[in-house]
Amino acid sequence: MIVPIFNKQVPLQDGSLRTKIEAYAKTVGFELHNIFIIDGSKRSTKANAYFSGFGKEKRITLYDTLLNDLEEEEIVGVLAHEVGHYKKKHIIANVAASIFTTGLTLWLLSLFIGNPLLSEALGVSTPSFHIGLIVFGILYSPVSAVTGLLMNILSRKFEYQADDFAKNTYNAEALISSLKKLSKTSLSNLTPHKAYVFVHYSHPTLLERFNNLRR
Ligand SMILES: [Zn+2]
Repeated sequence: MIVPIFNKQVPLQDGSLRTKIEAYAKTVGFELHNIFIIDGSKRSTKANAYFSGFGKEKRITLYDTLLNDLEEEEIVGVLAHEVGHYKKKHIIANVAASIFTTGLTLWLLSLFIGNPLLSEALGVSTPSFHIGLIVFGILYSPVSAVTGLLMNILSRKFEYQADDFAKNTYNAEALISSLKKLSKTSLSNLTPHKAYVFVHYSHPTLLERFNNLRR
């Protein structure tokens, strides 16, 4: 409902790419009828692909930038990675994790929001909902730093699993060469500090992924 407000999506036309995608999907027992192209180039040079929906309604959306920059085998390599996320139930796990963290946030909010001590700490003598929100915002940032860190650790683990799936069901080299091109268009840092990766990265670094794919 939301994506069409900002972007145009058209079905991928019949042709060699569609044939290759469908042939791969068949080999891994993945039912796929909805393949769409989105005009991501409208706003960014970044290339991407994602899944949405469940069951029969699931669809894969490819950015037009992906089609312009990558060879067909490389696109199927990226898709194989995304199918890995689906097959390993990462999508469901991510939804569950975000429901849990939202629940945690709202529970903490309910504890803080009416507490007169906290509004007093900011020099407000009459407690109110809006001052409670501000206090909560300040107190919540260390909590969100921790939940964000845990989510990133989980996400990096999932990325390795999806890469392994692509390696085992398709072709590691196709994914490697596509990742190289994608990191070029998204200007990603090739040598980030280990500590920075640990805290902020939702994906392993390129080199870590290549090493894992070639192992
Ligand atoms: Zn991934």
